[in-house]
Amino acid sequence: MTKQDNSRAAGLSRREALHLGAGALFGATAALAGGGARTSLSAQGAPANVVPIPPPAPDPRYPMPPSWHRELRQLAPNVYAYMQGGGPGISAAGVSNAGMIAGPDFLVAIDALQGPLPAKGFIASAKKATGKDFGRLILTHHHGDHVNGNQFFTHVEILSHPYCKSEVMKAAPIAPKMWNPTPGVADVAEERKLVPPTVTFTDDLVYDIGGTEVQFRSVGPAHTWGDVVAYLPQHKIVFLGDVGFFWVAPYANNSHISKWLDVCNAINGWDVDVLVPGHGPIGGKKELAEMAEYFKVLRIEARKRYDARMSAGAASAEIRLGRFDNWIGPERLIMDTVRWYAEWDGSLTPDYNAAAVREATIEYNGIKAKAKNVGEIIPLDRMEALAEAV
Ligand SMILES: [Zn+2]
Repeated sequence: MTKQDNSRAAGLSRREALHLGAGALFGATAALAGGGARTSLSAQGAPANVVPIPPPAPDPRYPMPPSWHRELRQLAPNVYAYMQGGGPGISAAGVSNAGMIAGPDFLVAIDALQGPLPAKGFIASAKKATGKDFGRLILTHHHGDHVNGNQFFTHVEILSHPYCKSEVMKAAPIAPKMWNPTPGVADVAEERKLVPPTVTFTDDLVYDIGGTEVQFRSVGPAHTWGDVVAYLPQHKIVFLGDVGFFWVAPYANNSHISKWLDVCNAINGWDVDVLVPGHGPIGGKKELAEMAEYFKVLRIEARKRYDARMSAGAASAEIRLGRFDNWIGPERLIMDTVRWYAEWDGSLTPDYNAAAVREATIEYNGIKAKAKNVGEIIPLDRMEALAEAV
């Protein structure tokens, strides 16, 4: 049975289940907003492992994403990926993947994950697999789900692109002082501190880790202005950070999407077989090409409407992306449309334009409400939580 057949067979019941989930989410978020819990939700990022997929609804004509588990997976001798769980019905919003290379004396981490639970889980799994502790941490970019766990990597040198460092430095003084229990992120209240990198690099940085060559390549602007990927030529592996979203709708709030597409093209020319995305299951060049295709389909659809002087919010309410409507995080279509518009009207900067995304989401929701399509209304809290977590 092919994936497509499988999805057709299961499509209707899944769709119904997701609709139910979306309704429950809307109710729950509304309750949170009214109950004063919104602050902690936003501060911690989306409660990633428990939030059902929000609207818009998936399209049963196309395959659903696979499910994958949280695990430390060995990819080659001394090379591991720490994968976060995800799949249909489970939002992978703030849940990012990390990497690890074991050297003779210490371990090198690629990203620190979102909070105490995933970071401590990563550190414990790495210790169990190798008997060693981390000595270096290289960050792929500044987003919270990749750097909020920095504080748990004690006694390590932290490295990043200068843009990543400057964004972390900006966020550190205003970061909450405590971790509060949040499903998938923190199980107990404990002190919280955002630790900035101490070493920056702009050219490629090449490590020889016990005979494993790791090329940390600065490829941005793409997902952000400070993206770094880790390429291991001997093993034909690349850790993409958030340059890669597989089966998860790409998040473009800090992106230069055209340049991101150029980076996808460039990586397609590398001698690489195994691609570890920042979000989603491990894949190959095909999966990276699919993510690029998401942006290309959206570009065509959004550009038609931009040229017709339609607003980004109204365009988002109309656009369907075919098979990509089933990807996890479909509400990102709105922020990604806003970002394409900013590229075209010349207003693009490295910063997230929160006001524009908010305005587009309100307009999108207004159109859905008018059409009595309340199942597709997107809670503003969710968009805001997303903005802080990915
Ligand atoms: Zn990111």
